[in-house]
Amino acid sequence: MQIFSTVREAVSHSRESDKRRVLVPTMGALHRGHGELIRVAREAAGKKGEVAVSIFVNPLQFAPGGDYEKYPRPEREDDEFCRDAGADILFRPNVEEMYPADFSISVDENSLAMTLEGRSRPGHFRGVCTVVAKLFHLLAPNAAVFGEKDFQQLAIIRRMVRDLNFPVEIIGVPTVREGDGLASSSRNKYLTADERAQAPTLQRALQEARRLFTEGERSAEAIQTAARNVITTAPLARIDYLEVVNADTLQTVSVADANSLIAVAAFFGQTRLIDNLRLS
Ligand code: AMP
Repeated sequence: MQIFSTVREAVSHSRESDKRRVLVPTMGALHRGHGELIRVAREAAGKKGEVAVSIFVNPLQFAPGGDYEKYPRPEREDDEFCRDAGADILFRPNVEEMYPADFSISVDENSLAMTLEGRSRPGHFRGVCTVVAKLFHLLAPNAAVFGEKDFQQLAIIRRMVRDLNFPVEIIGVPTVREGDGLASSSRNKYLTADERAQAPTLQRALQEARRLFTEGERSAEAIQTAARNVITTAPLARIDYLEVVNADTLQTVSVADANSLIAVAAFFGQTRLIDNLRLS
């Protein structure tokens, strides 16, 4: 595995290699979810292609006073993780090179980013789009892999690629979960034992929503209320949002249908977790 830490190294490799390249953008603190993305990337790259993993804790997508500073950065473990997962390239740029002091251009998505995470975390998707656009330029991948756990991010990246004509195929990967249903996340490390024990309630709430839908309930209000009631059984949970939305537009719906998805964000102590599930 080659490790690049400068823009120059990344660009000269992209120019020289004519292999099919598949990129997995991450912020590190790698876990089973990232492992699955790398596995899918390998499949998409083929035996002769190459898999590139980027690790960059992107300050632009964190709110001021958010967890940017304390976000875990286990460099050695991440190196090993990428090696073991069979990555060919690890790109770990530094923040000074990615964002010069007078950096002044960014990429905004102005429709899908207005709801859910975008409403709770103003500027978050500007940070995501900007860094992903930069990574696409630097590594020139043929395809890139993103997790459905961040389904709004996936939808926004697809839109960016379409609207800005990036010649990159976007591949979505279903959410990887721990044994008790909690979606794997780098932020799970922040949870205390009690919070960790209660966090799978999110997934149970989404499953309850799906069960109701399967039994014929179509009122988004009724489905949301039932899901909320499950979450309130966890005393440490504080819901940020819980909404049934159209999976394409990400707008809230009042009548659920086969293209609906339920999305939740909740705090357990200081830690904010998100999850989502299609109702059918
Ligand atoms: P992050 O390092 O948290 O920015 O995530 C990097 C990529 O991994 C994103 O495309 C995420 O959607 C994806 N990802 C994170 N957690 C999971 C998971 N549990 N299952 C599938 N993909 C995930």
